[in-house]
Amino acid sequence: MNNVFAAFCLIAVCGFLVSAGAIAQSGGNASFTGNFSSSGTEKITIGAEVNVTSPGEYAINCSFGGVTAASANLGNLSAGIALAHVEVAADNAGKSATLELYKIESGNWTLCDSGVYNIPAPTSGLDMLQIYLIAGAGIVLVAAVALMLVMKSRRSKAVKEIVETSFRLRCPACKQEFIVNDTGIRPLVGKCPHCGKSGTVKK
Ligand SMILES: [Zn+2]
Repeated sequence: MNNVFAAFCLIAVCGFLVSAGAIAQSGGNASFTGNFSSSGTEKITIGAEVNVTSPGEYAINCSFGGVTAASANLGNLSAGIALAHVEVAADNAGKSATLELYKIESGNWTLCDSGVYNIPAPTSGLDMLQIYLIAGAGIVLVAAVALMLVMKSRRSKAVKEIVETSFRLRCPACKQEFIVNDTGIRPLVGKCPHCGKSGTVKK
């Protein structure tokens, strides 16, 4: 009977080792190797680096005080390092988030790893949309100022050209001076505004 008892014990010990091995294996499918989070005014991204040792379908779950805030299916992951993230409402800043990593096999979710991470408080009062709007308004303002300066310089150049292409002329009839606008055409026909006499400029 001692042999029977010994055999029974051996089978029991082997059964325990096999089941312990199975538990260890299911827990060793993947693990968290690091975490990150970025805060914004609308959403906080909570993420973790996952070391996958057994390829397959995975999901992560994020909860605050036992209440699930977000979960994400990570899809099929191959062996190696993968990044997993979920987005939660920004009012969770300052709380402790529990991240859980699951492997999904034929509908069964096996917990692989979990970790508790503190969510930092928002660092900036501006979200990306506001930054884009401010940058856009700045670009429009700079463009408007540049356009105004170009228009102004063109106008003054046009005025300058008129000044440069006009000259003083003394009327041969009444000996009074007047300004003739030079059109570039020769002979240039001018009319004295004092006595009304017309004349031509050849050069
Ligand atoms: Zn004249």
